Order: sequence, then structure tokens, then C-alpha cells
Amino acid sequence: MLKDKTALVTGSTSGIGLGIARALAAQGANVMLNGFGDRGEIERARADMERSFNVRVMHHAANLMHATEIYEMVEWTCAQLGPVDILVNNAGIQFTSPVEEFPRDKWDAIIGTNLSAAFHTIHDALPFMQRNKWGRIINIASVHGLVASVNKAAYVAAKHGLVGLTKVVALETAGSGITCNAICPGWVRTTLVEKQIEARALQAGVDIETAAEQLLMEKQPSHQFVTVEQVASLAAYLCSDAAAQITGASLTIDGGWTAQ
Ligand code: NAD
Repeated sequence: MLKDKTALVTGSTSGIGLGIARALAAQGANVMLNGFGDRGEIERARADMERSFNVRVMHHAANLMHATEIYEMVEWTCAQLGPVDILVNNAGIQFTSPVEEFPRDKWDAIIGTNLSAAFHTIHDALPFMQRNKWGRIINIASVHGLVASVNKAAYVAAKHGLVGLTKVVALETAGSGITCNAICPGWVRTTLVEKQIEARALQAGVDIETAAEQLLMEKQPSHQFVTVEQVASLAAYLCSDAAAQITGASLTIDGGWTAQ
């Protein structure tokens, strides 16, 4: 379905991003990975994708806190794999604290990684899509792009901003063969959430699995985690021709969280 397309997936060295990269590669796209992590592990994931799906997969280690590194990554992707057709803004970080105690540097890091980086990648990659009259931009927001939770001032602000950015880009590209959508997952059990489960277990004096259950019971009516594969399938669907008229949407995949 995506044969010979070029996909750039930020934050794709683990979790949801890695799942999306694999799903797009499985559809035939050549993929530029991005993100931090152990060099050996990244290389294994990259080589495994190339072998399994018979596509080209590369990795660029741009730190998304720096606009110049983002520009270099987009240019390098186009030079190595062809003009970016699919851009998935997935990289994200979390930090929790009451707003009056929220460290200023954590605020800057979360807004930088979860929101500003998406502006810079879109700014740099969109002209390539416009030239080809085809493109898919997928912003991995969150239920926290639509509703709030305590102690997540920066994350909620960044994700609401990302949903707003999605709508503007959708309007500016409407009818041009390019779509821009946000995916808003509920709890997915990745490293980002595992840290929150561990903190909860410590605070409540319970074991990890009990803390995970409590986390789900509090917000996610299905009481089940969303899987990485489910989010990745939705991203792949948004890249299909069937989704050509879906643009500016914020698609929840949250076990009923935002229906409450
Ligand atoms: P994760 O921690 O497994 O993955 C985060 C990725 O981002 C990693 O590859 C990491 O290296 C990369 N990254 C972080 N800072 C970076 C930077 N400055 N430059 C480049 N790469 C950077 O987390 P995840 O749960 O897979 O999260 C992926 C996205 O999904 C995030 O935007 C997150 O907010 C969103 N999300 C996650 C959940 C969940 O429950 N896990 C729910 C809703 C939304």
C-alpha cells in the first residue's frame, strides 16, 4: 500500500513510535527512525525491519529540542530515502508535578519535545509533500489533548497545542492531497507509562501490577491498556486512500476515557 513512500517517524526507537515505524514498513514504506537509546538496540531494530519487510530503514539521532537538528534530519531523510511523504510526530516526554512546583526547565523540555518539534518538522517537511501533491501528517497527541488531569500542566498544554496545530495544518492543506490528523491514545503500556506506574506503586505501597490496575480503573473504562499495535494500525489506516477525506480530526483510541 505504501510502497516507495518515505516515512519519517520521530521518537521511533521505542514504544508507540517503533510500533508505527514497523506498521508503515510492513506496508512497504521506507522509514527514517529517530530517537534516543542504546546504539546496538537501535541497530537491531533497524536491521530487523529491513529484513522483515524488504524496505530501507535508517536512523537519525536528531535531538528534537533543536530546530537546526530537525532541519538536518528532514533534509537528510529526503536525500537518503526520497522526499518525505509521511510525517509522524510521535516523540514525547512526561513529567508530573503540581503547577506551582513545576520545574521551569521541565516545562520548556515538554513544550519543546511534545509541541514545538512538531511545528518544526511540519514547517520543514510540508514543502516536499506540497511538491508531490500527496502527504500524510500524523500527530500523536493524547487524551490529554482533549481533557486534563492533575499534575500534568506542561503535557496537557503541549498536547492541546498539538491538537490545535493539527487543525490549522489540516485547513491550510485541505484539498491538496495532504491530510493532517491527531491520534489521541489513552493508557498504552510503554516506558513513558511504566515510570508512572512505578511511582504510583511506590506511593501507594502496592506491587506494580496492582498499581497498573489502579491506573486503568481511575480513567480508562475498558480497564484494558491500548496496545502499541492498535495505535500503529490506526496510523497506517490514516495513510491509506480510504482515509483521504479524514483531515483535522482528533481520533481517540482510549477505551472510553474521553466518553465520560
Ligand atoms: P516512549 O518513552 O516509549 O517513547 C518516546 C520516544 O521519544 C523515544 O523513542 C525517545 O527516544 C524519543 N524522544 C524523547 N525525547 C526526544 C528528543 N528530545 N529528541 C528525539 N527523540 C526523543 O513513550 P511512548 O509512550 O511510546 O510515547 C510516544 C508518544 O505517545 C508520546 O508523544 C506520548 O506523549 C504519546 N502518548 C503515549 C501514551 C501512553 O500511554 N504511552 C498515551 C497517549 C499519548
